[in-house]
Amino acid sequence: MYRDLSITIISKSLTDRFYPKVWARAEDDCWEWQAGRTPIVQGKTGVHGGYGQFTIYDLDLQKYRSEYAHRVAWVIANNANIPARMLVMHSCDNPPCCNPKHLVLATFSRNSQDRENKGRGGRHLESQERFLQNPEIAEMYKQGWTINELESEFLIPRKTIHTWLKKQGVPLRKRGTPGFRSSG
Ligand SMILES: [Zn+2]
Repeated sequence: MYRDLSITIISKSLTDRFYPKVWARAEDDCWEWQAGRTPIVQGKTGVHGGYGQFTIYDLDLQKYRSEYAHRVAWVIANNANIPARMLVMHSCDNPPCCNPKHLVLATFSRNSQDRENKGRGGRHLESQERFLQNPEIAEMYKQGWTINELESEFLIPRKTIHTWLKKQGVPLRKRGTPGFRSSG
């Protein structure tokens, strides 16, 4: 299942490996990841990918695994766990950016609530698609979350999630797989 990220990953050797890969410029600039990144893909909803990748040791799995660099940056900067089922999003819309000032915790429901508070609720579908572009959503699906679970987690309609995953070329599990329901 989807892996949470906790402060247990932080160690001197981790930060010694991490910081040289971040191009830390002026305080408010984007600090882009200089090492490996996820492939850039041209999807029907735009260009996606380009997120920094960093290897961490996962204490739960007892092995090394790849993690998104911006998530590691958030954990180090805040010295805190990423709370269960929350995503780290870029306020700057720049996937390789690791500047903690540009990284915000969000759930879709909070995100959409913010938008409605600001009187921007009219562009709901667009904001849903923007949220779905977060690579963690596709990752969660690949790691076993069902579309129904994603729907109740993020309050985005099943049909929207299904259509989006399909557009992005994420292999969909067959109908009849436990937990999977047709989006109609
Ligand atoms: Zn940035």
